[in-house]
Parts: sequence; structure tokens; C-alpha cells
Amino acid sequence: MKRSKSKLTNSVHVGSAGDPVYGGLVNPIYPSSAYDYGTEVLYPRYFNTPNQTAVVQKLASLENAEDGLLFSSGMAAIMTTLFALLKQGDHILFQKDLYGGTHHAALHELKRYGIDHTMEDVADLKKFERAIRPNTRVIYIETPSNPLLKITDIAAVARIAQSKKIITVIDNTFASPVNQNPLDLGMDVVTHSGTKYIGGHSDLSCGVAVASKKLIKEIRNTAMHFGGNLNASSAYLIERSLKTIVLRVQQQNKNTLTLARFLQSEPGIKSVYYPGLKDHPGHAIAKKQMPGGFGGMLSFEVKNDPEKFLKKLTLIRKAISLGGVESTIAQPVKTSHAKLTAQERKAAGISDKLLRLSVGIEEVKDLIDDICHAL
Ligand SMILES: *Cc1c(COP(=O)(O)O)cnc(C)c1O
Repeated sequence: MKRSKSKLTNSVHVGSAGDPVYGGLVNPIYPSSAYDYGTEVLYPRYFNTPNQTAVVQKLASLENAEDGLLFSSGMAAIMTTLFALLKQGDHILFQKDLYGGTHHAALHELKRYGIDHTMEDVADLKKFERAIRPNTRVIYIETPSNPLLKITDIAAVARIAQSKKIITVIDNTFASPVNQNPLDLGMDVVTHSGTKYIGGHSDLSCGVAVASKKLIKEIRNTAMHFGGNLNASSAYLIERSLKTIVLRVQQQNKNTLTLARFLQSEPGIKSVYYPGLKDHPGHAIAKKQMPGGFGGMLSFEVKNDPEKFLKKLTLIRKAISLGGVESTIAQPVKTSHAKLTAQERKAAGISDKLLRLSVGIEEVKDLIDDICHAL
């Protein structure tokens, strides 16, 4: 199908032409791992079988990308991309606030292969730029960040990188392709943990990288060596999930803004972090670079015992991960940031009373009632 300008239309139709044999409306699941070797050789680990391709086409349309790759997890997407773009002796500049898995992979994997890295605060762009070295080949950012929802100025980082011919990679998981399209702002590669908003139902794991045809070709060459491809049944489920991603994320945006404002007015709450709030330090930039909305993630600090608060919630479930249709809550000191020392957590601004909420698609009044009751 020809791409429309509308994400609502593309999310339903692109890549989903249906069954060519019987005329069914939905794509069949093609489980074959062995194909006739005609002109193009199809094989799961070549990332080119029909169910993989359907997902890539849909996601590429949502991210305004030429091409993409579907992986079995977000980390597979991120690490394959980095190993494809970097070699021994290269340097990569990361923003400081990173997803825990990426942070640990930089420390424990890249280093072992002779790839140097720096993690620098990106709020001060001058300082960030000064961390670039002659051998810096990749700049890697993530916005909004976990768990404090800090905002990185995507276009500004892209300009710095382009002037020095450095490739930029962004983890767009928290924003989702509905709210933010970094390729339009000058980024080179966008990755997602599709386990979150792309899957959207807390029932599968996948990852994505989208970019230009040229860069995807480069990443695919490495991906074919590492594997990390997704099976046909899961790919089909992702394709199905993507048909409702715009509706889901729009409802999550709406619910989260309402909840953030409610929490701000609530005496039992010490602070609220959400880029949609006018007093959030990244609000002005977020407004520019997130035209679809500010997303479904927010965090806040309670004044009293966070454990007691969590125990009293009945609708909002205590769980790791995020981006599902159901609202979930997690305590970063017990989950994503458990491996940090108390001092490191303090430096990162993550207190014991900080809670991270992934807002679902429920009636927002019910979510507010649940929080009020627990407070
Ligand atoms: C979950 C997550 C990842 C890792 O994705 P997996 O699917 O768990 O491998 C990467 N980045 C962000 C921001 C995430 O939330």
C-alpha cells in the first residue's frame, strides 16, 4: 500500500495487504524456515521473511524511515546496531541517563572488544560536545529518559554530530513512534524495545532498528552474523499490535497528562516528573520534538512510605517493564537502578521514594481513585 500522511491509516494498512491466496483480510503466518532459492533467498536469520517484512514496513512508515530490522529483543536491536557501526579503537559518546541494560552493556561488552566510551550529561550541550574525540564514531541518546523523564534536544545533538560526520543512534522506546520521530530531526538510527509500546500488551519481546536503506544494509550484515531475529508467530502478533498503536498511545498520552496534573495537586506527593507539565525543565523542547504527545511514562515521589503505598494499590499493578495497556508501577531503587550504589543513585537524583508509573489505557478516573485510596 502507498503510505498515507496519517499514522492512523499507515498503522492499519502498511505491510498488511492480506492473504494473496484466499483473499483474507489479514496476513497469513508463514512459519517456513526453508524457502525455494529463487532470486532473493528468504531465511529467518536474513531478516527477510514475510512476517518480519510486514512489521518492518509498518514501523518504517510510522518512523518515516526507508528500511528497518526486526529483532527478538530491544537489547538485540541496540547491541547489533552498535557492533555494526563500531570497531576496535573507536569511541562512542553516550548521554549519561541510559536504560540500565544499555549502561551495563557499554561497561561490560563494548569495553571487552576495545571500544571506548564516555557517558556525559547531555543537558549541557557544550560540555557534551567537548566529550567528542577524534575517534568518536557514534553518539547515542535516549529521550525521554528513565526514570526521571529528562529531555534531550534531539535536533541539537544531530547538528553537532552532522558537523563532525558522526553517526547518531537514539533509543526511542519511551516516546513510541506515535509521539516522536527522530529521523525527521536528523538522527541516523532509531531503536525501540518493541517489548514496550510496540507490542503494547505485556505479552511478547522484540526490538527494532530503523534507518536509511544504506545504514540498514550495514546493520543487517552484522545482524546476520549475530542472529537475534524474531519468529513468524511473534512477528505476526507485533503486526497485529501495531494496528492499534496510535489509539493506544493517544489514550496513554491523555491519561498520563491528567494523572500528572492530579499528582501535582495532591498533598501526599512530593514531586512529579512529566515532560508534559509546564514546569518540567524539558517541557519547551519536548513540545517541539514530541508532536504526538508527551508519552505514557511519568514518575513521582511520595512523602510517606512507598512500600505501603504500593501495597494499597488494587488496579495499578506492581511490575517491571512498561508500555502495556494495563497501568503498572515500579520502584526504580528496587528494579532498574538496584545495581547502583546509594551514592550513584543520589547523584542520579533517584530517591527511595521515587515511583515510576507506566500509564495504561484504562478510564483515568479509576486510576486516580486507586491512587487516592492508596495515599
Ligand atoms: C526495555 C528497554 C530496553 C531493552 O529492551 P528489551 O526488549 O528488554 O531487550 C531498551 N531501552 C529502553 C528504554 C527500554 O525501556
